[in-house]
Amino acid sequence: MNSFKYCYGPVGSWRLGVSLGVDPVSQPEKVCNFDCRYCQLGSRPARQPGRAVYLLPDELGEELERIKAPADYVTFSGRGEPTLAANLTELRLECVRRRPERTAIITNSSLMYSAKVREELACFDFVIAKLDAPSVGLFMELNRPGVGVYFEEVVRGLILFSKGSRGRLALQTMFVAANRDQARALARLYADIGPDEVQLNTPLRPCAERPLSREELGAVAAEVSAELSRLGAGAIRVINVYGEKAPEVEPVSAPDTLLRRGKTRGIKKDI
Ligand code: SF4
Repeated sequence: MNSFKYCYGPVGSWRLGVSLGVDPVSQPEKVCNFDCRYCQLGSRPARQPGRAVYLLPDELGEELERIKAPADYVTFSGRGEPTLAANLTELRLECVRRRPERTAIITNSSLMYSAKVREELACFDFVIAKLDAPSVGLFMELNRPGVGVYFEEVVRGLILFSKGSRGRLALQTMFVAANRDQARALARLYADIGPDEVQLNTPLRPCAERPLSREELGAVAAEVSAELSRLGAGAIRVINVYGEKAPEVEPVSAPDTLLRRGKTRGIKKDI
C-alpha cells in the first residue's frame, strides 16, 4: 500500500536539502488563518485562529514507519498552517521516536504571539517563519489574515521567539509585485528580529500572482544584504530561491506529494 494521508515526499528542497513532509492538518481543503494572495492551494476565506486535533500520533507514526527513504529533515507543512494542530508537540515527538532525522516546520507566524506556541516551536531543530510585509497595510493586502491575527503581534512574537532559547530560525518572504519595493523596510525588520537566515522566495508554482524574475529577485537580495550590512546585521545569511540548488529526489507517493505541494512552473524547486 503506497498511499499516504499525512506524509509526503521526500522532496528536494532549496532550503532544507532532502525533506520528508508531514501535514499535521491533512484536510481536503486548506486549513489556514491566512489567505495569501499567492497561495498555491487556492483562495479560501481565512479561518478563525483556534487550534484543533486533526490526526493522532499513532496514525502519523504508522506512515512514518512505512517510508524507508532517508531525509535531512522531517518537515511540518502541508495543506495549511501547521501550528493550528493543537497536538503539534505530540506529533513532533512521534517523529523523533520513529525517525532519525532532524525536525523542521514552515509556519506563517500567525500564532507567534502565543507563549505556548513559541515553546512548542522552540523544540524544532529548524523553524522557517513567514514575514512578507513591513507594515500592517501590506500585511492585510498580501496575507489577508483571519479575525484575531494582528501584524504587531506577529512581529512582537517573532522578536520574542528569536531572542529566546530555540533551534535554527529563518525568516522567509514571498516577493511579488506588491512587496518588491519593500526590501529595505523588510531588512530593517529582519535586523530587529535577528534570525540566522533570511530566505527570499517568489511563487514558482501556479497561483494568482506572477513570480519575480531571477534578475528582479537578485536585485531584491542585493538591497536586503546591503541594508543588513548597513545596520550591523550582516551576519544574517541571505539566500534566494533562484540561487540555491534543490537535490533530485523521488517521492514515495507522487500523487500525495503533488496534492500538498502543487507543480512548479518550469523550474524544479521545493517547499
Ligand atoms: S500561509 Fe501558506 S497555506 Fe496559508 S494562505 Fe498563506 S500560503 Fe496558503
